[in-house]
Amino acid sequence: MKQRRARRKYYNWEIEIAKGNTNKFYNSTDWDELREKVLKRDKGKCQFFLGKWNDGKHFPKVIKIINADTVHHIIPIKERPDLALDINNCISLSFEAHEIIEDRHRWRWRKRKVPLTKERW
Ligand SMILES: [Zn+2]
Repeated sequence: MKQRRARRKYYNWEIEIAKGNTNKFYNSTDWDELREKVLKRDKGKCQFFLGKWNDGKHFPKVIKIINADTVHHIIPIKERPDLALDINNCISLSFEAHEIIEDRHRWRWRKRKVPLTKERW
């Protein structure tokens, strides 16, 4: 394990992301470390449902204090690879808030409903 750490690779993420290697970025130690810093800065709470942050398009219906488990890039890394590791471009969100922000929640519900109904009836 120690050897692995010593041999940690340093990537130029701006170039890697521009090449389309976003999975490599999200699996990297660099991202892991930034994620932890962001969660610490935001005290582990979802900033969307706290009412502290939104993207100007989606707003919380209720204000609630819930834990964050996702760190979201405010400006997507594909648009600004140079801000991929910028803490000011990152915000702590709950899974629920992240789905809303990424416009995935409706699609997910629809997808989930099909097998659920089938299993029940
Ligand atoms: Zn996101």
